[in-house]
Amino acid sequence: MSELAYPYEAPASQALFDRAAAVTPGGVNSPVRAFRAVGGTPRFMVSGTGPYLTDADGREYVDLVCSWGPMILGHAHPEVIAAVQEAVARGTSFGTPAEGEVALAEEMVARVAPLEEVRLVSSGTEATMSAIRLARGFTQRAKVIKFAGCYHGHVDSLLAAAGSGVATFALPDTPGVTGAQAGDTIVLPYNDLEAVHAAFAAHPGEIACVITEASPGNMGVVPPLPGFNQGLKDACAANGALFISDEVMTGFRTSKAGWYGVEGVVPDLMTFGKVMGGGFPAAAFGGRADVMAHLAPAGPVYQAGTLSGNPVATAAGLAQLRLLDDAAYEKVDAVSAQIQGLVTEALAKEGVAHRLQTASNMFSVFFTDRPVRNYEDAKAQESFRFTAFFHSLLAGGVYLPPSSFESWFVSTAHDERAVQRIADALPAAARAAAEATA
Ligand code: PLP
Repeated sequence: MSELAYPYEAPASQALFDRAAAVTPGGVNSPVRAFRAVGGTPRFMVSGTGPYLTDADGREYVDLVCSWGPMILGHAHPEVIAAVQEAVARGTSFGTPAEGEVALAEEMVARVAPLEEVRLVSSGTEATMSAIRLARGFTQRAKVIKFAGCYHGHVDSLLAAAGSGVATFALPDTPGVTGAQAGDTIVLPYNDLEAVHAAFAAHPGEIACVITEASPGNMGVVPPLPGFNQGLKDACAANGALFISDEVMTGFRTSKAGWYGVEGVVPDLMTFGKVMGGGFPAAAFGGRADVMAHLAPAGPVYQAGTLSGNPVATAAGLAQLRLLDDAAYEKVDAVSAQIQGLVTEALAKEGVAHRLQTASNMFSVFFTDRPVRNYEDAKAQESFRFTAFFHSLLAGGVYLPPSSFESWFVSTAHDERAVQRIADALPAAARAAAEATA
């Protein structure tokens, strides 16, 4: 690790982290927030405005995490806040149907053609868990194909070779998931259609579904090779299985209609979260009406939630989606491209071997000189360089995801001032990456 790793302190965050560690495992409520992969004190944030976060020590950062994707309009967008305030004033949870959830579902269905019907839930994990159950119920089959490095939330059966925090901590699997729960999961290398065909051939009539991130962002950004998603869809169709495209990360971020809007491959089921909740816990799964008809109370596959379609969350999500017009995506794409250019320029200037990979406005940097097409490639990068790069940027007022296995996210609020802060911090960070040793 570079000498420069922690030339700065964050006493207020450290004090909060110490308090947190006394009452919460590892001091955090989601593992990757703990900075374990990069070391140092996790920043406790006290406020967010536009592209900025301010921590407990009063330091301001340009935020390139955007709450891991949801904050595509930046923090505390006035129209989203107004919608939330208006909704809160009318009551925070009814436990009955309410118009807001209908309006959010209508907005989603209008944007994403394959989404004929949608069921709202509260987290991406719930969405993928429920979609898998529905696929199994619909097909009357047990096995599920997933890809190494793809993260679909902490669903028992999907935690085999998952990306995100599981990749960050190099956990091969997780204790607590039984053989029975994981035994019906077939894990294949990403971007490898031959492996998919071989799995279908080896398990005739047994595979309920293939689930994939629409374009993976949880092993860093590793987009599907041309034809891969269509190949999955075709293999599923030929074998009586369902194709589930997990758009929790890409949905309403990579285009108005998510990754579907970029590639046009029609899944049987899709999952959503993040952007559609406007910073609140809202997520969804949906797709073919004939499949969704198997869901309770219309059909026999059970699924439910006390806070599903929560009126405050749906108001926030709807307000955010309605602001996400073509001009908004053009803005996010443009600022993303600008930051991508600055990053590659700074790293190239210092002679740092790297690959910047993109999926629309999602991007990440791998410290390797080889293309990254799957999880094995992603793991082969020089992550110690990322650690030095991360801490130098943090010291320069730029907040990156604290792991080299995550996508970076920008928003419509990332303006010239924010970009300039990144440009100013990059030369030192690139130097730190160049000088870093394993
Ligand atoms: N699916 C994908 C592709 C994700 O990126 C995530 C979270 O990062 C999830 C599912 C799980 O969503 P949540 O964290 O809301 O449970």
